[in-house]
Amino acid sequence: MATVSLNSISKTYDQGVEAVKSVSLDVKNGEFLVLLGPSGCGKSTVLRMIAGLERVSEGEIKIGEALVTDLEPKDRDVAMVFQNYALYPHMTVAQNIGFGLKLRGGKKQEIRKVVQETAELLDLVSELDRRPGELSGGQRQRVALGRAIVRNPSVFLFDEPLSNLDARLRATMRLEISKLHKRLKSTMIYVTHDQVEAMTMGQRIVVMEKGEILQVGEPLVVYNKPASIFVASFIGSPSINLVEAVASTNGPNQFDLVDLNCTVNAEDLLDTNTTIKSGTKVVVGIRPEALFIPSSEQQVYQKIVGKVEVVEPLGNETIVHIRVQETVLVARLPAQNLPTDGDQIEFSFDRKALSFFDSQSGKRL
Ligand code: ADP
Repeated sequence: MATVSLNSISKTYDQGVEAVKSVSLDVKNGEFLVLLGPSGCGKSTVLRMIAGLERVSEGEIKIGEALVTDLEPKDRDVAMVFQNYALYPHMTVAQNIGFGLKLRGGKKQEIRKVVQETAELLDLVSELDRRPGELSGGQRQRVALGRAIVRNPSVFLFDEPLSNLDARLRATMRLEISKLHKRLKSTMIYVTHDQVEAMTMGQRIVVMEKGEILQVGEPLVVYNKPASIFVASFIGSPSINLVEAVASTNGPNQFDLVDLNCTVNAEDLLDTNTTIKSGTKVVVGIRPEALFIPSSEQQVYQKIVGKVEVVEPLGNETIVHIRVQETVLVARLPAQNLPTDGDQIEFSFDRKALSFFDSQSGKRL
């Protein structure tokens, strides 16, 4: 186990692509940290620099107390698991798992013991004599995990390990990797573009865009208090509703949501202590589950009238698209007592669940 510290690391590829721009990050000992962001934002490059597969252009990397910036991958005490498994097709599962140990001159009997223990951990015992070609995608990925585990590294690095698997298997493997982390208690850094993986597996999530870190935080903090419009939109499905508003003349930090014909008091909701100048344009983020249809006698903060455009029943819940003038809001509603297409409805929102962003910079207010 070890900490990992990135101190202003940057990477410019030979062709001049600035893939990572001065990223600093401290990964805690034993932490499961997820790097999340759209394709091309630099996540893999960060991971590969930690592994030593890519040289840093600037900055320092420490694993534990050791400065590893210029060390070879084999001298960094890390193990990496890739999405394409990288197994040897002509070797059995046992040979694949034990290969790294054999290369390092491990004794045959010891290797056999470690391989057996690892296969038990990963439920691969009955597969040990088979070859990768005879295994399912999930089993292959478990072999790849086994190969990393036997090395007993200080840090595990995962580069989108589940992206080649179908949705059901991905869900199973997510759970398996999380369980593995609980058992091994190792430091794990996991790269993905899948927000569900990030939310469910990460103890902390690092959201990246264009080579930079936008936010680092626990999953629910990132979800409930996104640092910017980009983060808010990237996490959550269906996506957060973004509604234009203007700082009101009615009072400090009141915002007129012109299209929805209502004013919201955000005095206690903003991170900033300053009063936003009246007339300033802002964007209000409303999560689909923050919208609801109140019962007729229920007292609510605001009532908005809208027209139901689309109803998508999912069984356990229903996604309803509601038009109010030019704005269409997506609401996540319980499966019962639903409106139907074309209905005129009154709905409301949980004021405390709103996020407010500067419309120019996109940053949270
Ligand atoms: P992600 O993992 O978030 O998809 P990457 O780290 O793979 O992003 O890539 C970040 C940027 O660097 C992209 O623009 C990509 O095209 C570029 N890039 C990645 N690897 C190389 C390389 N070996 N040579 C040149 N450009 C690269």
